[in-house]
Amino acid sequence: CVQLLADPVFHETQVEGAVLVLVDITAQEQGERLRREFTANVSHELKTPLTAISGMAEIIKDGIVKPEDINGFASDIYRESQRLIALVEDIIHLSRLDEGGDGLKMEPVDLLELARQTAGRLEPVARRAEVSIQVKGSPAKVCGVPAVLDEMVFNLCDNAVKYNQRGGSVTVSVEPGEHETVLTVADTGIGIPDQDRDRVFERFYRVDKSHSRQIGGTGLGLSIVKHAAALHDARIDLDSALGKGTTIRIRFPKEQKQ
Ligand code: ADP
Repeated sequence: CVQLLADPVFHETQVEGAVLVLVDITAQEQGERLRREFTANVSHELKTPLTAISGMAEIIKDGIVKPEDINGFASDIYRESQRLIALVEDIIHLSRLDEGGDGLKMEPVDLLELARQTAGRLEPVARRAEVSIQVKGSPAKVCGVPAVLDEMVFNLCDNAVKYNQRGGSVTVSVEPGEHETVLTVADTGIGIPDQDRDRVFERFYRVDKSHSRQIGGTGLGLSIVKHAAALHDARIDLDSALGKGTTIRIRFPKEQKQ
């Protein structure tokens, strides 16, 4: 996409020449389109739980609900408001990363220790889903922003539990190497179809919208992972087999940009 800026050069009323400036505005237009799409998606994602909450509250207010059904309505309102909170938190994290992580302080972080803490936090959720989590590997320090790395590992492990199957497992491993340190989150879950693999890192892209919503997904988890990896100059590899599981590797280079 090219914008033409023509600037004729006048000399004593005679045109002596013209300056033609070609500006490639593809990136600029794409950025604007993505921002417009994001705003439309956010509005829709916020409106859905809010409409549900408002509808249920109205029914209770008008006294239409039988007393024995009130608890069920309260649980639904609670679940929808939790979804709203998760969504707003993810939007805040994403916008902070969008600004290139300005003001975020890099420091040495042990990925193995971080993975153990994250797995520990997810233990109760995993137990309820009948999924086991194990962490293995060796201590490995990377230069990073602790809160951002924590969110990245949490989102990966959370997905590995959410999209798993009863009796399944999640293995998180940290392998320090000569040129890079690799953090791997592997699950024995439902897998990601071939045609969706490139798109799951896009904002609000879900393979199965209703399944993701039902289990509390915001659709922003992997976009946050993508931005968090970029902030640490890390590469992401995704392998998946339908019905067998998904493996995501984050490769941190030994020499990170400062
Ligand atoms: P969500 O909040 O919906 O989980 P994410 O951005 O974290 O959003 O992931 C995008 C989509 O990618 C999910 O809705 C799901 O369809 C798919 N996905 C992510 N991680 C996994 C996984 N480990 N196994 C299978 N599908 C996954």
